[in-house]
Amino acid sequence: MSRVYNFSAGPAVLPEVVLKEAAAEMLDYRGTGMSVMEMSHRSKAYQAIIDQAEEDLRKLMGIPENYKVLFLQGGASQQFAMVPMNLMKNRVADYVITGQWAKKAWQEAQLYGQANAVASSADKTFSYIPDCSDLPISDNADYVYICENNTIYGTKFWTLPNTKGKPLVSDVSSCFLSEPVDVSRYGMLYGGVQKNIGPAGVVIAIIREDLITEDVLPGTPTMLRYKIHADNGSMYNTPPAYGIYICGKVFQWLLNQGGLEVMKEYNVRKAAVLYDFLDSSTLFHGTVVKKDRSLMNVPFVTGSAELDARFVKEAEAAGFVNLKGHRTVGGMRASIYNAMPIEGVQKLVAFMERFEKENR
Ligand SMILES: *Cc1c(COP(=O)(O)O)cnc(C)c1O
Repeated sequence: MSRVYNFSAGPAVLPEVVLKEAAAEMLDYRGTGMSVMEMSHRSKAYQAIIDQAEEDLRKLMGIPENYKVLFLQGGASQQFAMVPMNLMKNRVADYVITGQWAKKAWQEAQLYGQANAVASSADKTFSYIPDCSDLPISDNADYVYICENNTIYGTKFWTLPNTKGKPLVSDVSSCFLSEPVDVSRYGMLYGGVQKNIGPAGVVIAIIREDLITEDVLPGTPTMLRYKIHADNGSMYNTPPAYGIYICGKVFQWLLNQGGLEVMKEYNVRKAAVLYDFLDSSTLFHGTVVKKDRSLMNVPFVTGSAELDARFVKEAEAAGFVNLKGHRTVGGMRASIYNAMPIEGVQKLVAFMERFEKENR
């Protein structure tokens, strides 16, 4: 068996101990004589798995009592519609456009009401986060929406917008559990888990209870109502049971690491290995305004598309895979989520140093 250093933006690297544990439990989950994949979601054994997962997530993030945790399906993209269907009571919402995912969410919301773009960084290819301290928030806005970590462009909101009292809705797909968060500052946060937590197919939404109501837009399908999932403990229908089980193992792994303070400290140290190199390199450079840099997704370029392509190819041959930038931006991108060990980044930088010497 040989494992590579996987810099994929998602689905992405998971902790090796989690994969090993899942492998060991594959045929017989703790004496049940079956795999979690084969188990009724109405069984006692499965109820214990999902309850433990929720409890551990609440502990990790310090989720207040008045927030619900929902395990949903449909990817983060499904939330682009579910958010307005459930929250757009006045049919007005304000969006901050910091990349493709925010833009898609904004476009989807336009199907349901007036979705205003109140700030954007499109003018500079989304290489920065706009100043959101005094946005023209609509008086009757139902919420203000951001994509907190921009997976494709490698920017991160290090200061949350001033929403002027409106609930903040945040897509945290690619920074989920990478650092401590103050959940009480959000009306809702959600993320697809395939970036930093588990296998594709699960979305976790954390929503303040007063925002979960029967009062949804007319025609909202039952399956797309937060209230249905909240009232049924995320088991209105068959949940993505195996995926939730793996998420639960990752929550336990994070608790064993010491929690999110420790993860953040590790992630800062890990990202600095790559950013410090990029800042001193004569060949490679980062593409993002320094103060807005993501700890999770690090885009960089050489300035030559041909050299970029050669780098990606040679890196892959050396065991550093999925470094090609998003198809819409080119260049390279190293996604260095929680489960990427610092050694992976140190070795990548050593490889980049060699490549630089050979190609100067
Ligand atoms: C990957 C990603 C999405 C889309 O996720 P799907 O699960 O494929 O729908 C949305 N937002 C962000 C920030 C992402 O990184």
